[in-house]
Amino acid sequence: MDTSERMFAEACAVMPGGVNSPVRAYRAVGMTPRFIRSAKGAYITDVDGVEYIDYVGSWGPMILGHSHPDVLQAVADTMKDGLSFGAPTGRETELAKLVCSMVPGIEMVRMVNSGTEAVMSAVRLARGATGRDKIIKFEGCYHGHSDSMLVKAGSGALTAGRPDSAGVPAAIASGTLTAQYNNLDSVEALLRANDGEVAAVIVEPVAANMGVVPPAPGFLEGLRRLCDQYGALLIFDEVITGFRLARGGAQEYFGVRADLVTFGKIIGGGMPVGAFAGSKKLMEQVAPTGPVYQAGTLSGNPVAMAAGLAQLTILNEHPEIYMQIENSAIWLATQLRALEEQYHKGCTVNQIGSLLSVFFTDRPVTDFAGAKSSDTERYAAYFRAMLKQGIYLAPAQFEAMFVGAAHTKDDLMNTVLAASRVMQEL
Ligand code: PMP
Repeated sequence: MDTSERMFAEACAVMPGGVNSPVRAYRAVGMTPRFIRSAKGAYITDVDGVEYIDYVGSWGPMILGHSHPDVLQAVADTMKDGLSFGAPTGRETELAKLVCSMVPGIEMVRMVNSGTEAVMSAVRLARGATGRDKIIKFEGCYHGHSDSMLVKAGSGALTAGRPDSAGVPAAIASGTLTAQYNNLDSVEALLRANDGEVAAVIVEPVAANMGVVPPAPGFLEGLRRLCDQYGALLIFDEVITGFRLARGGAQEYFGVRADLVTFGKIIGGGMPVGAFAGSKKLMEQVAPTGPVYQAGTLSGNPVAMAAGLAQLTILNEHPEIYMQIENSAIWLATQLRALEEQYHKGCTVNQIGSLLSVFFTDRPVTDFAGAKSSDTERYAAYFRAMLKQGIYLAPAQFEAMFVGAAHTKDDLMNTVLAASRVMQEL
């Protein structure tokens, strides 16, 4: 038994599945999760001292790599003054101003503590502002675990085979309509059949919780047009894409404006932060200026704000990072596709920006059906073999591979060498 196995047995006695978030339990890959001791730059080290090149990056936040000195310093400096006041601090305004300056079309921000909270609150705001109740989401997209979003959800819900969670009242689930990603007709049909009742269409502008599936040309533009036509708000859930595809996220990358945008992950620099944002007119509908209630004891926490501010400041001042990480991901995808041509393992590699996925399917993956055609057992075998080679990937097919600024050319090269050995073996 290695140390992770011992620690996992202990954890399972006091936490469901031994974890605080399901995918971490490694159930989809049939092994014991690695317990982590530390992480620095592109590397993560387990409790037995084994080091891996990390492509999870805490599921997205660590775009600059782990333990970035500026971020750690900001946290250390801030915590000396106290951990939480439950009262306003200047850092909240600073971070909100920075977010507004980086992201197109937003004038006001409300900080929360997770992506789940950001989406839950944005959806409530959309309902409050339109006076309508129904929401359209896409099958296989994941927007956190609030009741109305756990309908045909992706990520861990999909991996666990429970895209519709137990415990969500039928009355709430029935207000969430599901359309097909990259299929505008499916959206229009729902809007037409529920004319005057749909508050918002919420979408991951790049689907990244069914594995990575980029939007088809015209899809996001089409959503914008349909929302305008039917009086629904368009919500971009940028918990993954925000500050990752570009400084201004998917809105900047694709040139399409949303009415409300949700953030998580990168905005907190590794601390628990989420946010939702939009025009002044919409955001002033939120309490205390408006009737849509939303609150949080630890929201805007000074240490969390400091970490987010440090990370976003670097991204804002170094836009060349975006070209670097996209080029790294393009190079990785190209090499992985070359391995597929060489070894014919039936893989499809999707990549956009610094996000990529290897699907174990022969067909192109442009929608949820394509993603689901992937052989998850083969992904699990690939995952286990890559881990043995020192490459730390997401322990489930329906997730993304995150490339960051800390991945060097050598790291990428070693990753491809590992994949080459694994592809031969598989
Ligand atoms: N939206 C998207 C697009 C996500 O990927 C996630 C989490 N991976 C969430 C919302 C939920 O965020 P959190 O886990 O911070 O609650």
